[in-house]
Amino acid sequence: MKKITVLIPAYNEAVNLPALHTRLCALAAGELDNVYTDADSSAPGETPHMTDYEWEFLFVNDGSRDDTLAVLNTLRRSDSRVTVVDLARNFGKENALLAGFDLATGDAVVVMDADLQHPPEVVPEMIRYWELGYADVYGRRRSRGRESWLRHHLTSVFYKTLQSLTSIEMMPGVGDFRLLDRRAVNALTSMRETQRYTKGMFSWIGGSKHGIDFDTADRAGGKSSFGPKQLFALALQGITGFTTAPLRFASISGITISIGAFIYLLYALVKYACYGDPVRGFATLLCVMLLLGGLQLLCLGIIGEYIGRIFIETKGRPPYIIDTVNGRPLTSSP
Ligand code: UDP
Ligand code: MG
Repeated sequence: MKKITVLIPAYNEAVNLPALHTRLCALAAGELDNVYTDADSSAPGETPHMTDYEWEFLFVNDGSRDDTLAVLNTLRRSDSRVTVVDLARNFGKENALLAGFDLATGDAVVVMDADLQHPPEVVPEMIRYWELGYADVYGRRRSRGRESWLRHHLTSVFYKTLQSLTSIEMMPGVGDFRLLDRRAVNALTSMRETQRYTKGMFSWIGGSKHGIDFDTADRAGGKSSFGPKQLFALALQGITGFTTAPLRFASISGITISIGAFIYLLYALVKYACYGDPVRGFATLLCVMLLLGGLQLLCLGIIGEYIGRIFIETKGRPPYIIDTVNGRPLTSSP
């Protein structure tokens, strides 16, 4: 019997977890079979029966400050399919996901948010494509749920910028809701960097992929942990983790400005030689100096971002620390 692990990172999700668990139980009991059909329903193969699979619900508590751990432990006592991994502190969603990938025992892993934004009804369809041989069946947001205008537009600008800077395909509207087969999971766990941008990594590892459209639901309860500050940090992580193009920007702008300055120097010399013009233009001089100063600081900042990341990675610290698995300390490292 094939085993499916549903991997759920949870940070302050106590209010959502019981409802999510109920939906997962319905999924495993086959009650959600054939509820959702993909637009491309002409694809071969029947929707498999969820009761034909063994299930593992792997929750990673990412250092929550609310009752998440207590709620998870209650669920674990009532359901043997539930595994609870408790991280020593909040390591961030990307690292919590890695912890989950390391400990997942399934033949395939379905990654899902804890806030019910990712509908479990789509999972049987994902499994259908997995059975057809796809290594990575990803969910594609048809609508994004409730979200501010600014966040929506900034996100789309970010994806366009990142895509123009790297050859790795960054699919807009595609997030962490997906099914990965064992090969893909092993590829992800072989990448041990602490500064993770998992969305990019899914593309980086390659393999056969298929997209399924789904409607993002609104967050069931609680509030999003990704405010502007966290999203900006994640965006920087994406850019510095997947491209060195900003460094090239520094060298190219340096070369362009130097050539421009040299041409202007020749022009000024010739003008002086022919007309004997006294040097004028204090304001212009000030502007040029400020512009160049700003550009130099920007380039230093770009280099600094990369050096900072090299510094953190060279320390070779583990990406996360596990406190307990199912209430017991972990004896051997994953
Ligand atoms: N999450 C996590 N660690 C964090 C922040 C978030 O494990 O430090 C989890 C969170 O519990 C949820 C998922 O990551 O299951 C997505 O988070 P959220 O809903 O806050 O993000 P959004 O959907 O707004 O992008
Ligand atoms: Mg969410």
